Amino acid sequence: MPAFRLERDGMANLAVGVDLGGSHVLATLVDGDGKIVEREGHDIVDHAPDVVIATVEDAINGVLLGAKDNATAGIGVGSPGNIDVATGAVRYSPNFGWHDVPLGERLRERFKLPVFVANDARCATLAEYTHGTGRGTSNFVLLTLGTGIGGGIVAEGTLILGSLGGAGEVGHHQVRATDGFICACGKIGCFEAQASGTGLIRHAIAVAPSFPRSNLVSGKPEKLGSKPIRKAAEAGDRHGLAAWNRYLDDLARGIANIIAFVNPEMIALGGGVASAGDFMLSGLGPRVDELTTMVPRGRTKLVVAALGNDAGAIGAATMARRGGLTTAG
Ligand SMILES: [Zn+2]
Repeated sequence: MPAFRLERDGMANLAVGVDLGGSHVLATLVDGDGKIVEREGHDIVDHAPDVVIATVEDAINGVLLGAKDNATAGIGVGSPGNIDVATGAVRYSPNFGWHDVPLGERLRERFKLPVFVANDARCATLAEYTHGTGRGTSNFVLLTLGTGIGGGIVAEGTLILGSLGGAGEVGHHQVRATDGFICACGKIGCFEAQASGTGLIRHAIAVAPSFPRSNLVSGKPEKLGSKPIRKAAEAGDRHGLAAWNRYLDDLARGIANIIAFVNPEMIALGGGVASAGDFMLSGLGPRVDELTTMVPRGRTKLVVAALGNDAGAIGAATMARRGGLTTAG
């Protein structure tokens, strides 16, 4: 264990940010501007709590060695699932099959540093709000369009956590209650089922019978990615465009609902699908406007998120530096 000086110096704003995913853990050392100065990744092959925590500890150790004798404010961890932010325990994580794992306590014992744990999507939201596209706003929403839809809501400068830490789970409001896809949560037509990267694949499969000569979705469904469909749409492929347009319709429905709930200044879109950039935003904006009824149209900026896959780790470090998710500063 290296020694840690607590007095402030040139790099005293350093904090450790960890993004704990289902198959990979990324530990980083992040400076006060949100810049990653060290990173160490490890694959996770076994979901037993002791094994995962040992892997997290190894990764943290690696970046702490990079801190040398610079003071480190603390350790932040973004984890999937529902987290008790007061103790850092993972109450429930479907990705790991965990119930009540005292992750924060274990890391505190090991590293003798302040440790904060929060949901990974909330951490990514804090990062985009503080160091990414959301800088300067006070009402901000992040939507990460990946396998599911992760996200978070900042209202009046505060990241909303809700009474049990579950606020911001924007993926599970229904946007197609009767003719939608079945969601992992059991409901029909959730925003996540229709408008995640997986949703784009499902739209492409759903419209495939109209394009008998297309081989866009000819492989096994579980092997399909959303990227070839997005690329086909960008290239003007008829099958790809049909899926893409249905996808944008459903994405716009969900975004219009969020605008009605939250009236944000900005909604940032991250995840693989958002790599389409202007191609996505130009199709999305008019659809969202058409469905926006209770607040002035065209006043919510739709943008592509800035921090990419690093957002979770940067946000976790930001949380550690601030001493929690909701503390301003
Ligand atoms: Zn759902």
